[in-house]
Amino acid sequence: MSILSQSHFHNKEAAYAFVEARIWPQGPVCPHCGDCERNSKMGGKSTRIGTYKCYSCRKPFTVKVGTIFESSHIAMHLWLQAIFLISSSKKGISSNQLHRTLRITLKSAWFMSHRIREAMRSGDLSPFGGNGGAVEVDETFIGRDFTKKPRGEKKGRGYEHKNKVLSLVDRTTGQARSMVIDNLKATTIAPILMENIDRETRLMTDEAAQYKGAKNYFAEHGFTMHGQGNYVSKTDRTIHTNTIEGFFSIFKRGMKGVYQHCGHNHLNRYLAEFDFRYNNRVALGVNDETRADNLLRGVVGKRLTYERTN
Ligand SMILES: [Zn+2]
Repeated sequence: MSILSQSHFHNKEAAYAFVEARIWPQGPVCPHCGDCERNSKMGGKSTRIGTYKCYSCRKPFTVKVGTIFESSHIAMHLWLQAIFLISSSKKGISSNQLHRTLRITLKSAWFMSHRIREAMRSGDLSPFGGNGGAVEVDETFIGRDFTKKPRGEKKGRGYEHKNKVLSLVDRTTGQARSMVIDNLKATTIAPILMENIDRETRLMTDEAAQYKGAKNYFAEHGFTMHGQGNYVSKTDRTIHTNTIEGFFSIFKRGMKGVYQHCGHNHLNRYLAEFDFRYNNRVALGVNDETRADNLLRGVVGKRLTYERTN
């Protein structure tokens, strides 16, 4: 049977049951008071699908409360289709494609895809590296940052007017973490490295000035002279940033091919999407269905209103 013929992609009750099993693995939990014992499913024709009644606080609830699905009028099985499509495609899916495939309005498709990206955002703040493991760090530029006015720069030169992204890849776990940064100053980057990387780490970067002081903070700082065309150290073959270059190339191909017009304000969400897909990739043993399940577990606590997405 095709994955797409499974009932939770087509049937409303099955879709709710599918989401409930992932968000409430121990059974329904009242989102209003936290009670997980004294509730029961409401029946009757006039009751909405998936409605429970809590006997502690007397309020009704569904699995949608407090998640990205809250106050959305899109049917749950369509949400599950969108989640599967977005999480199983290597480079992502544009809102336009979602609009055509699911036959929903473009506005709904746009809103859904931003909420799904929000669900991909990892809440994991634990430091990368440690125990002498290697963490690669590099930055890249993407699109134009329209929040910054060009300051008499020559066209096509410099990066002042571009969006700047800093990424970290832990070579041991294969996980990536990316963020938008305002500038490439050492005073901007050093605190980010200190917060996100364990001190007992072999840090790998290129020769850029912003990383010069890093040897004072980490067990080792290996760097290669990209300016001279050296991408792997001649004395130690483990000193390179090739892993993160690979991550950036997937990110750039996706951004150029699928998301051509990404504003500065939304870039963090796209980064969350590319981090998520990389961190749940096939090479790490994550298949399409597990990836969609992992995404579904991230829908809680990410409620997003129209105002915030603008
Ligand atoms: Zn309650």
